[in-house]
Formats: sequence, C-alpha cells, structure tokens
Amino acid sequence: MTINIGISSCVIGEKVRFDGGHKHNKFVEKVLSPYFNYIPICPEVGSGMSVPRPTIRLISNEERIALVDSKDSTLDYTDSMLNFAKQTANRLKTAELCGYIVCANSPSCGMERVKVYSKNNATKNGVGLYTGVLMEQMPWLPVEEDGRLNDPVLKENFITRVFCLHDLYQSMDGEPTAGKIIAFHSRYKYTLMSHSTAGYKALGQLVAKVAEYDIDEFFTLYRTQLMQTMSIRATRKNNTNVLMHLQGYFKKELDSPQKQALAQLIQEYNQGILPLLSPITLIKHYLSLHNNDYLKQQSFLDPYPQELRLRYGL
Ligand code: SF4
Repeated sequence: MTINIGISSCVIGEKVRFDGGHKHNKFVEKVLSPYFNYIPICPEVGSGMSVPRPTIRLISNEERIALVDSKDSTLDYTDSMLNFAKQTANRLKTAELCGYIVCANSPSCGMERVKVYSKNNATKNGVGLYTGVLMEQMPWLPVEEDGRLNDPVLKENFITRVFCLHDLYQSMDGEPTAGKIIAFHSRYKYTLMSHSTAGYKALGQLVAKVAEYDIDEFFTLYRTQLMQTMSIRATRKNNTNVLMHLQGYFKKELDSPQKQALAQLIQEYNQGILPLLSPITLIKHYLSLHNNDYLKQQSFLDPYPQELRLRYGL
C-alpha cells in the first residue's frame, strides 16, 4: 500500500532547518512509513533560501501578512514563498496526495497558531505562508502538525481522513462515475455518522443529485464535502449511536445472552470504561458468525490497518 503524503522535510529528518538541524519525528518514521510514501518538501529551501540561513518570521503590515528576515524586515521573502507554494500545490493536485504532515510553529509550514509580529506585539494566530496556500488550493486535503500527532484523538482523526481519501481515490480508479461514488458513499455511512450526523445527511442530499452534475465537477465537490465532514472529530456519543445501529443488524441472529454482552460493551464504552475497540471486536466476531455483506463492507469497522493500534486510546 503506498499512500502519497506530503511532509515538511525537517520532520522526516532532513537537515534543512535555519540552523542546519532537523525535527525528526519517530512516529512518522517508525509507525507510519510502512504505509505512506512520503513526499518531503522544504518550502524555504525550495523557494531559494540556503542552509543554514537567518531566521525569518511573519509580520503584519497594513497590506498583508509578510514573510521577512527576523532582524531586517526589508528582506522580504513573501512573493518567492507564495510563488513556490502555488507551483507546488498545482503539482501536488495531480499526485493523488492523501495528506500532509507539517512542522508546527514555522512561519512557512505551521498550520495554526503561528506567531505574527506587528509593531507593538506578537499574536499566535497565524498560518505558515506555504501551508496557508496549500490548504486554500486543496481544501479537501487532511493536514496535520507533527506535534499534534502525539494526541491520540487528533492522530486517529488525521489517519482516518488519510485512509478515507486514499480509499476514495482507489475506488474511483482514475475515472469517477456516479455508480462508484454511490457505492463508496454507502460504505462510509456509519463512519460519516460517527463524525457528524448533519454532515452525513448533507452529503446524502448531494449524492442524490449526482445525475444533475458533470461527473468530474461532482467528484471535486463530493471530495471536499466528504473530507470537511471527516475533519469533524468523532465523539463518544456519535460512536455509541453508530454502535447501537450496528447492534440492530443482529436482532434476529443473536440469542439473549449474546445481545446482552454486546449491549454491556456498548454501555461501558459510552461510559468511558472501555475503548471503542471492545464493542467493535465483538461486533466483528458476531459478523464472522452471521454474515452480512452490507455491514461487512462498512469502513467504520476497519477504517485503517489494525496494526496502527489507533483505537486503543479512544
Ligand atoms: S519547518 Fe518547513 S521550512 Fe522550516 S525547515 Fe522544516 S520544512 Fe523547511
């Protein structure tokens, strides 16, 4: 499995930082690399800066947010960075990129809360210039910062989105059709419900109108709306609701103690006593005893390889 993922070069260990160092991330290298094909990009080096180099920062002047030398604000790198970002985004759009891991706090790569300096103070409300363009040009792309991947919930949400987008591309096989999109959407029913019931309903309404659109235009629209819904974090309450729906599929097949065992696990998950993995494991066991093709293909049961162990902490 090769999933194309863009990444800040320093996060993968390349010595491209201003001081000639890197920001190597072990999880990215050791855990994710068997699944991901990393495309490392250092926007500062890519836009013509050297290693080592003077530090740069974002400043807010009257016209715009500019990227300048920290000591001499007349040395302005804004235009070269914006040009590099636009060219790179255009290139990446054709690469079926499924996610992007960026380095936090950087005035070029940071995704959020980057320091922006003004005359009298500094506020932590900026976005790295490069990553800002990337997110604007590819609003469907899952983007996450290296440091936030230490948080089990944020990590799981990012990886789920990456595998979902990869699955979408695989399912289309380079040629979207209405049938393929409807089949994909059907497999993601419960995953979407776990992220947002309203988002799931809105996507359903969109899919119902697929015949009214040019298919490529529809695919772009569907992809963006799908990934925006997936970026809403699944809650314990929504997951419990989905588990209860899944439980309903076994109404006739299970005897009373089996039903009770599942109800108990769902309740204990809802109360925060057990992880999500527990009721899902029992549901998969029941599914192996009582086949149900529709349920079996639901991505909610297997959103990513189990070896990633992401549901232990949820
Ligand atoms: S944070 Fe971005 S710009 Fe800075 S060294 Fe890393 S890849 Fe290069």
